[in-house]
Amino acid sequence: MIIVMKAHAPEKQVQRIIDELRGQNLQPMPLIGTERVVIAVIGDERILDVSHLSSLPGVSKVMPVLQPYKLASRETKWENTIIKIKDVEIGGDKIVMMVGPCSVESKKQIEESAAIIHKAGIRILRGGAFKPRTTPYSFQGLGEKGLKLLKQAAAPYNMIVVTEVMDPRDVPLISKYADILQIGARNMQNFNLLKEVGKTKKPILLKRGLSSTIKEFLLAAEYIMSEGNSEVILCERGIRTFETETRNTLDISVVPLLKELSHLPVVVDPSHATGKRTLVPAVSRAAIAAGADGLIVEMHPHPDEALSDGDQSITPDMLMPMMEEIKAITKAIGRSI
Ligand code: PEP
Ligand code: MN
Repeated sequence: MIIVMKAHAPEKQVQRIIDELRGQNLQPMPLIGTERVVIAVIGDERILDVSHLSSLPGVSKVMPVLQPYKLASRETKWENTIIKIKDVEIGGDKIVMMVGPCSVESKKQIEESAAIIHKAGIRILRGGAFKPRTTPYSFQGLGEKGLKLLKQAAAPYNMIVVTEVMDPRDVPLISKYADILQIGARNMQNFNLLKEVGKTKKPILLKRGLSSTIKEFLLAAEYIMSEGNSEVILCERGIRTFETETRNTLDISVVPLLKELSHLPVVVDPSHATGKRTLVPAVSRAAIAAGADGLIVEMHPHPDEALSDGDQSITPDMLMPMMEEIKAITKAIGRSI
């Protein structure tokens, strides 16, 4: 159930509803919009006295939410969620780019990466320090040393850093270094991890699971939000199908679909979606044309020497032309970069 307050209802009226709900052992989750507050109610809704609540001052209407994901649903919040980090907004008119290597490998490699992306006007640096590798014999990431290198490389440019957290026990450590916590595809349904990052105040980049449905994806976002963290960025990175020519299969219709179903920002990862660097620019253009709020792209200063995902990492030379193409698309759809 959601309680939609009247436009510009005073804080006192909102607080009264919150207190009443708490008094009934329900968990009120206020979602603050620019015009009005919507209070989502978590708990056994059957005990709600709808006609009483509807009559309280400041209440516009009390409505059921039909989707199982209540807080992530567009039914609960009409306006797009915009996540602000430093001087960057994710989910606003401007497209955001998150670029960098799959893994942080060395001081030199991540510093070179940061310099290249800075030159291209990109504000968010990606890089994994804890890597979810298919085989235990592959490079597993540099751990805390990698986090330090990532943060140090970003610092001279005041860049924002996104990196993956794989284990609930590592959330405090990674939060010390990262601005955005990434939940990888393999952990999309690691519910303990989702709850743990839901308790932080860091924006979460949630990747779609390898074989998850859109409903499961949005319910994973709901896990994070139900712990009090409403800053979730949905990341479509393709799913596993019978096709083997590309690493995964990217269904571009997921972008407008997620936008229809949810108010959360949506980004696309063309690197893991395709597994092939030559496909990355075209898929990036398609994602932006379809309405994505941004892209997370793997770029390596020397992809042939990469310790992970070299085949799908674009070269530095590919970055600027790709940015120019994306810029042209953003103009065509009334956005900017
Ligand atoms: C990554 O971003 O390097 C990664 C492992 O992505 P995914 O979880 O989407 O496979
Ligand atoms: Mn990768």
